[in-house]
Amino acid sequence: MSNLDALYQEIILEHNRRPRNYRVMEGADRVVKGHNPLCGDALTLWLKLEGDRVIDASFQGSGCAISRASASMMTEAVKGKTRPEAEALFTRVHDLVTGKLDVDADPAAKKTLGSLRALGGVARFPIRVKCASMAWHALRSALGSDESSTNGASEISEEP
Ligand code: ZN
Repeated sequence: MSNLDALYQEIILEHNRRPRNYRVMEGADRVVKGHNPLCGDALTLWLKLEGDRVIDASFQGSGCAISRASASMMTEAVKGKTRPEAEALFTRVHDLVTGKLDVDADPAAKKTLGSLRALGGVARFPIRVKCASMAWHALRSALGSDESSTNGASEISEEP
């Protein structure tokens, strides 16, 4: 394991131990459930919006360390972002965890992702990709840009 891998693993473990924004939100504008049947991960995501901007995000759920860490990092990253910014971040993270994005070759992506780069390790483990992407799919669904789930409940069925 390289030093970078060790650092990324530490970030994941730390978010799993102390997930950020882990609470039920009263008066949320959006509530969406995410589910990853492959691993048994499940979460509920709450968003508060002001116009086009996410002003608060929280989650609760059960699942593996990667799913919890990813949800924790997502809620931190998305706060203050507009819908298009959140959408762009979803795309970056999705490309990262599915191995389509080489952050070292893309300085702009590297800067945008920041510590979210820690999630990139799952690209080498296809079975974990959905663990890392579940919270992000829930975010997309909550922002109304995922047309496959307009009823507020999302089933994650995309192939990694
Ligand atoms: Zn999982």
